Amino acid sequence: MYIGGEFVASESGQWMDSVNPATGEVHGRVPAGTAVDVDRAVQSARAAQPAWAATHVFERGRILRQLADAIRARVDVLELEAADTGNTIASLDNDITLAGAYLDFMAGLGMEIKGESVPATPQNIHFTMREPFGVVGRIVPFNHPFLFAAAHLGAPLIAGNGVVLKSPDQSPLSAKIMAEICDEVLPKGLVNFVSGVGTVVGDAIVRHPQVPRIGFTGSVGTGMAIQRSAAEVSVKHVTLELGGKNPFIAFPDADPDEVANAAVAGMNFSWSGQSCGSTSRLMLHESIYDAVVERIEAQVSAIRLGDPLDPAAEMGPVNSEPHYRRILDIIASAKQEGATVISGGEVPAGSAFERGYWVQPTVFGDVTMQMRVAREEIFGPVLAVLKWQDEDEVIAMANELDLGLTAAVWTNDLKKAMATVRALDSGLVWINGTGRHFMGTGFSGWKNSGLGREECLEEVLSYTQSKAVHIIL
Ligand code: NAP
Repeated sequence: MYIGGEFVASESGQWMDSVNPATGEVHGRVPAGTAVDVDRAVQSARAAQPAWAATHVFERGRILRQLADAIRARVDVLELEAADTGNTIASLDNDITLAGAYLDFMAGLGMEIKGESVPATPQNIHFTMREPFGVVGRIVPFNHPFLFAAAHLGAPLIAGNGVVLKSPDQSPLSAKIMAEICDEVLPKGLVNFVSGVGTVVGDAIVRHPQVPRIGFTGSVGTGMAIQRSAAEVSVKHVTLELGGKNPFIAFPDADPDEVANAAVAGMNFSWSGQSCGSTSRLMLHESIYDAVVERIEAQVSAIRLGDPLDPAAEMGPVNSEPHYRRILDIIASAKQEGATVISGGEVPAGSAFERGYWVQPTVFGDVTMQMRVAREEIFGPVLAVLKWQDEDEVIAMANELDLGLTAAVWTNDLKKAMATVRALDSGLVWINGTGRHFMGTGFSGWKNSGLGREECLEEVLSYTQSKAVHIIL
């Protein structure tokens, strides 16, 4: 762990193993942090934060850009991250690029942390100013641990806060590299990395009385638990980036090749579909259903499964044993419930897949909204394809769940596309696209998919609190 500018073990002396999901073997370990470690991390961030907040915002921005450059130089993180997460090494270049880009972007927003002057009375001066919270807790999930550990520092730091960040226990190893980068560039103690079990370390961060602001990325259940725990301690500012079961609606005029390409790209198979934004419910109009399904089958059955460290691998394993067991269980229930296997649906055969957590990239057809495969976030390489006839019916299907993260609409009819966008209960909609994030426009879920908006100015401002000042003349 990295606390107070030092690399330290847990005060408990306990360690936790990290498993390589491609082999199921232990390949590293991290300290099993405790509430005492969390408190040390919070005190260290509290001690370093006032000087950081008093540093000119241009200088804070310059240091964040330096952090971005240092991240881009640490290409050694790629192998470690591929082995720890199961994400293919070929896809991970993008995580490094994005991590650097987020920090550069947040660095540039420093001068936007401004207040307003308000003509509340004719004779006096009334204005608002924005100030940091002090110490921010950030808790990140297992799917892109390095990207999240890096990118999620940007907004709190440019706003003048100190940070305590918890790495995920399923893929905790790359946080050490991020801590080394912080050690090179940032004032000692300002950013602290604590590893350990979520219900211990994560909960201790959430409940710490001197952490007034929590930024969480992870599952809906944990997000709700965090809201409850925070509320038991004090009135805290909590933002949540949670799960999705995202619909992709293709209209009759859509080109089957384009839809099939976008549907496969939108599943993010290079990290085994383990992405909150994956468009995992494909809703095809009946007139194009067969043509699109045929093309998807051809593409998905050709995906090359292999060791994530092999540059030719197009998909690796899923990340952990419990996660793997749950995915196999959902695949089994889809078969029992009458869904048709279009591609995959099995554990792959061959000696390379005898150990570890391997599932074939899987596509189910003839799915209905009553089936588990259509209702639960799988967070794995499983695409459910549904057929529709009527526009009102497909909107109702898309909005039926209590999640609303991303959605995609495919048509050349702009009026139809915009009417659908308006009807969807979703924080982000792609028209004729899937998957991509566009920095500055924001990323956020509706309904149980989240609270608060990230990857934009709103994220930076959410790490500040507003103060009204009245000069009585
Ligand atoms: P998770 O189980 O909710 O865990 C996320 C983080 O929370 C981990 O660091 C975990 O620690 C910690 N945690 C667990 N219980 C906690 C508690 N009671 N208090 C505080 N922290 C606690 O999620 P995951 O399985 O890692 O990630 C998959 C989920 O993340 C999916 O639902 C996915 O959609 C979502 N996600 C959302 C976004 C987005 O931007 N909307 C992005 C990526 C992922 P341990 O690892 O030690 O359990």
